Amino acid sequence: MLFQILCLNFDSFNSHTNFAGMTEKEVRVRFAPSPTGGLHLGGIRTVVFNYLFAKHHGGKFILRIEDTDQTRFVPGAEDYIFECLAWCGLEPDESVIKGGPYGPYKQSERKAIYHKFVQQLIDAGHAYYAFDTTAELEKMREEFKTPACPVPQYDKQTRMKMRNSLSLDEATVKALLDNKTPYVVRIKVPENQTVSFVDMIRGPISYDTNLVDDKVLLKSDGMPTYHLAVIVDDYLMKISHAFRGEEWLPSAPIHILLWKYFGWEADMPQYAHLPLILKPDGNGKLSKRDGDRLGFPVYAMDWKDPQTGEITQGFREKGFLPEAFVNLLAVLGWNDGTEQEIFSMEELIAKFSIERVHKGGAKFDYEKAKWYNHQYIIKATPDYLAPLVLPYFDRVGLQPDLEKLEQVISLVKERCVLLEDFVSQGLFFFKAPALIDTESIKGKKWDEAKVTFFQSWAESLGKVQGDAVSLEQSFTDAATAAELKKGELMLPLRIMLVGGKFGPGVFDIAAFIGKEALQARILNALSML
Ligand code: GLU
Repeated sequence: MLFQILCLNFDSFNSHTNFAGMTEKEVRVRFAPSPTGGLHLGGIRTVVFNYLFAKHHGGKFILRIEDTDQTRFVPGAEDYIFECLAWCGLEPDESVIKGGPYGPYKQSERKAIYHKFVQQLIDAGHAYYAFDTTAELEKMREEFKTPACPVPQYDKQTRMKMRNSLSLDEATVKALLDNKTPYVVRIKVPENQTVSFVDMIRGPISYDTNLVDDKVLLKSDGMPTYHLAVIVDDYLMKISHAFRGEEWLPSAPIHILLWKYFGWEADMPQYAHLPLILKPDGNGKLSKRDGDRLGFPVYAMDWKDPQTGEITQGFREKGFLPEAFVNLLAVLGWNDGTEQEIFSMEELIAKFSIERVHKGGAKFDYEKAKWYNHQYIIKATPDYLAPLVLPYFDRVGLQPDLEKLEQVISLVKERCVLLEDFVSQGLFFFKAPALIDTESIKGKKWDEAKVTFFQSWAESLGKVQGDAVSLEQSFTDAATAAELKKGELMLPLRIMLVGGKFGPGVFDIAAFIGKEALQARILNALSML
């Protein structure tokens, strides 16, 4: 990448870009995704920071769809973004769906607006028409490449050797335009200048314009590029602060120049380039491939590739609670200065400040993510969890009664880390276990006396009350009468009921399934020994 931040003398930093008076402006932030596929957790983290910042300052959170790259259009991706945000409870105040005073909120519907502004830049000499074909661009790259510069750019070195409205005379340009020759519009990056801005996280950042290329602003299909559209829209939508991933730092000099060329410097938002979310092992940005490799989700929700049909699992379907997901993302690169880890949404809004966002990347730790979810599951009430857990039972062909499910949830939630765990921890409440660990029932101390004990206890159940306390009392009495140690009988009973060595209190389970099922499960297990 050609990105080079020149860390020039910060003292000489130009203070006019420090935009005094910003604080009086209404806080308006935006998340501006391109709908090209699944939403990476880094994207949702950007939403979380935007949202918290907006709410902290009593401002507005705007969702703008940046769909100007038609070659990357993916059906369904826009709806998916809205669904992700709704699931997380991070609803925009203005959006394609919600509307608002600065719409349309989708760039493909704002084409005419960009044309007007691009013309303004051309007229002022800050942008120019370029008629070069793909073959001509390739030829240029071939011709001008040197060992020191293997990929020459379209810039001050090369632009006059290309076919554009700077190198060609006026009449030729007019003829080309009249003949509808395809063209793009490029920004004319000035020579020997330093472009600077103050990043809210990184402080002053400067760029040498000699290293910046003449980026395309308007494409030959008449669509603006991201660079043009983002500036025009941030301006027209009165965005006060722009938070985005640090991968956009290399584009910042183009953006700063555009703010200046349009004469909108006083309205430029304060930028904050957020640190990357890093893979848990090694370096570099966490990618979907890392998730596949290490067995955890990277997207917020399941994403089905409309072309291949391939499904990439998301945090939602994996069984994360949205509150846990938001909490764990909020602390990926931010903390409140204390050891606190669990924050309610209200606390996050009250405590969030961009100044406490770290500069360095945050390593993603899936085990820690699961820890968060576990904490939220423990805290959640059974009636909240029941409808969320239901689909996981549905996946295994079971539709438990909601009230019964709530009882099960309160018995097993301490043992569940993900919502899907409610099935493995709770299925036996509704269905006799398919497999029984008979070896463990027999263990070392199993003998005929125990077989007889279980058989007769199971057959005596008709006379016993069905609640957990009565069942346990009857079990204890029967063990005493048979001169057996209750402690040696409990694990076999558990395994008979649930299939293995797990689950909550064994008599709670017994009471829940009822005496009939209790008897049937004991007798069935005995028959398998
Ligand atoms: N459309 C850009 C993206 O997909 C937005 C970058 C920005 O926020 O400026 O990430």
